[in-house]
Amino acid sequence: MTTMGKCQAGAILAGCLTILTSAALAEDELILARARQEMVERQLKGRDITDARVLAAMGNVPRHRFVRPSMVGDAYADRPLPIDEGQTISQPYIVALMTQLLELKGSERVLEVGTGSGYQAAVLAELVKQVYTIEILPGLARTAAVRLVELGFTNVHVRAGDGYRGWPDEAPFDAIVVTAGATHVPAPLVDQLKEGGRLVIPVDAAGGYQELLQCRKERGQLSSMAIAPVRFVPLVEPKR
Ligand code: SAH
Repeated sequence: MTTMGKCQAGAILAGCLTILTSAALAEDELILARARQEMVERQLKGRDITDARVLAAMGNVPRHRFVRPSMVGDAYADRPLPIDEGQTISQPYIVALMTQLLELKGSERVLEVGTGSGYQAAVLAELVKQVYTIEILPGLARTAAVRLVELGFTNVHVRAGDGYRGWPDEAPFDAIVVTAGATHVPAPLVDQLKEGGRLVIPVDAAGGYQELLQCRKERGQLSSMAIAPVRFVPLVEPKR
């Protein structure tokens, strides 16, 4: 019989622990993937999300990587969740609805105002060529940019700054989505939208909520359609 040296036993134990930990992690990932598929079925297909590409993107993006570690278990719940600096990541259904309203085909360049966690930007990145996203809080912009790179998104460009003014250097855009509640449609965003382009934005309505608008630029004019009442954190606007 051979006696095992202390070092050897320690190395075997450490090896076993690594295998156990990675098995537990793989199991967690499986549970989360199932929760994500259930979210797509019940919360999205079960409502009015019919765009197959949007459903596929929502099924692909690991939403649990965009929430706080303590909230991973709630990542696929039918509600918004708090993120850092008092902001929120929207309910999955609202992300899917806003994305569907942008009517994306695949070759577009899209601007998002309000990066937050970066989740909406990641969903867009699955669907179009290039995504430009602006976040007014530099800390959130930094975290989102790092997270998106870690997850392998190479077509998202994150900038810290005031998205009310859009991103003139990269304009015009095929579609623009604002993920914070505005008092009105910002004129710079209309200017930076291509002819025929779509702008989706929550705008203040009576009663403390906002109306989600789907706007379209036709012959230089913006027409808009009210889609649903929603509640977003406020868009920071220049003082008038
Ligand atoms: N789309 C995000 C959620 C956005 S919450 C996600 O998927 O996680 C709204 C975000 O808009 C907040 O992070 C807030 O800081 C940001 N915001 C508010 N006013 C802004 C402005 N003027 N320009 C850019 N970002 C703004």
